[in-house]
Amino acid sequence: MRTDLLIVGGGPAGLNAAYKAASYGLKTIIVDKWFSLGGQLRQQTQSYDHLPQHFAKLRGYKLADFLIDRLKPLDVTILEKHTLIGAYSDGSVGVTNEKDILPIDAKNVLITTGAMEEPDIFPGWTLPGVMTAGAAQILINRERVLPGKQALILGSNEFALEVAAQLHDCGIAIKGIVENRSELLCQNEKLIARISNAEIPIVLNGVIESAIGKGKVEEAYVNHNGNNALYDVDLICVAKGITPILEPFEVMNCDLIYRERLGGWLPEYYGNFETTNPSIYVAGNAAGITNMGGILLTGEIAAISAVESLNAASTVQIKEEKEYLWNELYRIEYNSVLEARLDVINELHNEKDAQLPPLVDSLNGRLING
Ligand SMILES: Cc1cc2nc3c(=O)[nH]c(=O)nc-3n(C[C@H](O)[C@H](O)[C@H](O)COP(=O)(O)OP(=O)(O)OC[C@H]3O[C@@H](n4cnc5c(N)ncnc54)[C@H](O)[C@@H]3O)c2cc1C
Repeated sequence: MRTDLLIVGGGPAGLNAAYKAASYGLKTIIVDKWFSLGGQLRQQTQSYDHLPQHFAKLRGYKLADFLIDRLKPLDVTILEKHTLIGAYSDGSVGVTNEKDILPIDAKNVLITTGAMEEPDIFPGWTLPGVMTAGAAQILINRERVLPGKQALILGSNEFALEVAAQLHDCGIAIKGIVENRSELLCQNEKLIARISNAEIPIVLNGVIESAIGKGKVEEAYVNHNGNNALYDVDLICVAKGITPILEPFEVMNCDLIYRERLGGWLPEYYGNFETTNPSIYVAGNAAGITNMGGILLTGEIAAISAVESLNAASTVQIKEEKEYLWNELYRIEYNSVLEARLDVINELHNEKDAQLPPLVDSLNGRLING
């Protein structure tokens, strides 16, 4: 197969990128290892209200439907149940449907393969009943299965509180949100109010010492300010954050960089979201972005960069698009990870003397000037 743009990963970043690229006439292929598109949006029932201006406020799974439906009239080939597994020496990309291996010859490749949840290790962490918060969310929202009756949530980021509230709404008694710091990581006041209204206890300066039970979780010891308390629970949801999935970038020979604020190791990228391997781009969670607005916008910036590389739009159009998208990213990410992102871009800029989009320089100036 030959294409202008191959997108690996059909989550929100990849789907939004496909729409942008195909709208400019680029022949686009999306491959996704799952049997349906949408990525992690498929189990998200919460509404997103900090989206780019060109999106309406939508619940996660509705946003996935919207992103998928609007590709239908465009020149986008969708290969579900296809996984990127390697690269050939001639530069083509190898994907498999587990029966055959298919080489795809793409002028540009965008990798939007997302992130994985971080585990936490304590005695008993392998017992059935200990799972990531994302797994519990998949069970209630996608599989319609209650993962337990009485739960502890480990971690206090926004995702931890969102899942705690959703489990509570399903009738699961949340015995506590356990956080080892002295304050909550989540700063979303609406969500904190929801937890407080549901009378879910918050255990700050707390750690789960161990989970115990015969063949499954039956109890857990929580150390709170030096005192051990025994909790009667059959479910422990670990929400310690997510980290980009790196294998596709290793396969494609892209350099990696470590940035704690962006989730740990991630591929290095320029201001146009191109990695150190020319014509290979990155966006979404894979680029260390966790807010939905940034996930959608970086997909579009990477797509417009592919459009630019193929001269598929006028210089004026490209400049206007980039300025708008970067301004939106600035608006959405300001006070969160924008500084860490510009740091990654600048490091590569200095090292390789690449051309930064003009706006990144001015955004940088605004940041430096406070
Ligand atoms: C379990 C889980 C639950 C989450 N829940 C929330 C939440 O409630 N709220 C929130 O704000 N964020 C949540 N997140 C973060 C979430 O990842 C983002 O909200 C968003 O979905 C990321 O978009 P993305 O397009 O970057 O990646 P994803 O949505 O993760 O999409 C990546 C896609 O790439 C595909 N893929 C991966 N590897 C390959 C490969 N080698 N070949 C082909 N395809 C591949 C996957 O099947 C997937 O469809 C969750 C993350 C996880 C892991």
